[in-house]
Amino acid sequence: MSDPLIERPSRIVVDLDAIAGNLQAIRARVQRPVMAIVKANAYGHGLVPVARQLQAHGVERLGVAFVEEGIALRRAGITLPILVLGGIYAPQVGQYLRHDLEITVSSLDKLRQVEAAAEALGRRARIHLKIDTGMERIGVHSYSCGPFIEAALASPWCEIVGIYSHLACADDPAAGMTALQLERFAEACAHFPRLGAPMPLRHLANSGGVLHFPQTWLDLVRPGLILYGVSPDPAARMDPALRPALSLRSRVVYFKVVRAGRSVSYGATWTAPTDTRVITVPLGYGDGYPRALSNRGQVLVRGVRRPVVGRICMDQFMVDLGPDGTAYNEDEVVLIGRQGTQAITVEELAAQAGTIPYEILTGLNERIPRSYLGAG
Ligand SMILES: *Cc1c(COP(=O)(O)O)cnc(C)c1O
Repeated sequence: MSDPLIERPSRIVVDLDAIAGNLQAIRARVQRPVMAIVKANAYGHGLVPVARQLQAHGVERLGVAFVEEGIALRRAGITLPILVLGGIYAPQVGQYLRHDLEITVSSLDKLRQVEAAAEALGRRARIHLKIDTGMERIGVHSYSCGPFIEAALASPWCEIVGIYSHLACADDPAAGMTALQLERFAEACAHFPRLGAPMPLRHLANSGGVLHFPQTWLDLVRPGLILYGVSPDPAARMDPALRPALSLRSRVVYFKVVRAGRSVSYGATWTAPTDTRVITVPLGYGDGYPRALSNRGQVLVRGVRRPVVGRICMDQFMVDLGPDGTAYNEDEVVLIGRQGTQAITVEELAAQAGTIPYEILTGLNERIPRSYLGAG
């Protein structure tokens, strides 16, 4: 993997100690068990190395979006409870049971599918009931979930491990939606005491909930983005104990002088105002570096912020060093992360690209090799 003869000059470096530190900081803040969300390749950080690090640091549970992600974790030897958050697709139900994955049950129909598969395999399903309190995505509406909860309690093939919902606006500390969702969720949970049944684990808080809404912490929290040290809303206050874990680095592969009046890249969208020095970086939107950063993004070269000029190509882009800037072939270029005293954040790139930090991170694809610092 680290053979320079076959490895690209571009790489993602993930600081696993930062992830362990962030887990610690979240724990200290909420004083509750944590279900660490590792869907979408652990937000681009690498599913298996991140899950191993979290398991080694005592996280209670993991959450993924799809059953395939859960199976990949089991194949890598992860033994923690794993909840699949997404809605189930009927042909896959048996896979959850075979790999000991907890199932999100989001309707009466789905409950019946799970029961049938569990009975056929002779294995009890471990389930979490999904209540819709305002996303209108998956889940039984809080106002009509009584019969659903009753049916789940009556099922000999299902063990109800949890009941949960998802917050729509928790990244905004001022939004009133969260209080409303919390109230609707409490209404749903009240069916358990009404039916004389023990309360399962109640969970609601994503990263925004952990940061801004202590009432949503309940029995368990489900942070994703902040585990990686990135803020869900750059405008809102972040816990200073959280540190970004990912950096994206490449190297100069070409240096030239662009004469005044000459344009750079596809569409000729940028023209050199004077004779200027321009470098080429071997990474592009085919790696997940957003094309929307064309003529907007910045990178660090020799500790200085420099602008991306012209359109970002599939595999390369250009950076202007100005008439007097210097850089040599093989010099490091930082696209995300620190160099010297400067830092480029995921939050900043997201704002420049007109998107959210989640999309920047999960877009960084498998073409970029990943290396890990501080593996336990
Ligand atoms: C993705 C996801 C989370 C984590 O969200 P963050 O905003 O990254 O913390 C929590 N719960 C559910 C159901 C999710 O889909």
